[in-house]
Amino acid sequence: MKIKSAEIVISAVKPSQYPEEDIPEIAFAGRSNVGKSSSINMLTNRRKLARTSSSPGKTQTINFYRINNEFNLVDLPGYGYAKVSKSNKEQWGKMIETYLTSRKNLLEVFQLVDIRHKPTDQDQQMYSWIKHFGFNGIVVVTKADKVSRGQRQKHLKEIRETLQMKKEDILIPISAETREGKDELWSVIHEIFRV
Ligand code: GDP
Repeated sequence: MKIKSAEIVISAVKPSQYPEEDIPEIAFAGRSNVGKSSSINMLTNRRKLARTSSSPGKTQTINFYRINNEFNLVDLPGYGYAKVSKSNKEQWGKMIETYLTSRKNLLEVFQLVDIRHKPTDQDQQMYSWIKHFGFNGIVVVTKADKVSRGQRQKHLKEIRETLQMKKEDILIPISAETREGKDELWSVIHEIFRV
């Protein structure tokens, strides 16, 4: 995919701030620190489109990026900080639910998990939420470079089992470090937009 333009449209906290639904959209979800920003930057060949290593206290926003004026790539707020308050968590839940249920042009949600760790309860919850709202849920396994080739299948199997993925559910290992998996991820994205 040739990226001619990639720019942030808005960091939204409520639906009235969402951009128009004039082009199709895909969204990325995942735990804080999973490598979401790095993955978005890798995909779009931009060093700093999405911020990396954002601080725990920062405002939780839904970030809309417009790519080639053809589609939006949406960065959903990360979850899983140990320190956030209960009301913060509730706010996060409402924000995600509102987005997932109201967005007409949203075609697919990608769930990012770290190859090194067994998916957490929140990862499982997010994945079943994605399914519940009628999306396939494409699992993107980040930081693939952090695990040796010999250990890889074992980790992928654990992720598949923990998330209770079916055989036909798609899982793509990627690395923002080595750029592995970039083409596979793009071909899945293209497939989604062809429908
Ligand atoms: P986010 O909070 O999900 O947006 O995560 P970031 O993109 O900020 O990444 C969190 C940390 O993981 C940073 O220190 C990144 O440099 C590191 N990281 C992200 N992706 C990779 C990867 O593919 N390989 C390695 N080795 N480190 C990564």
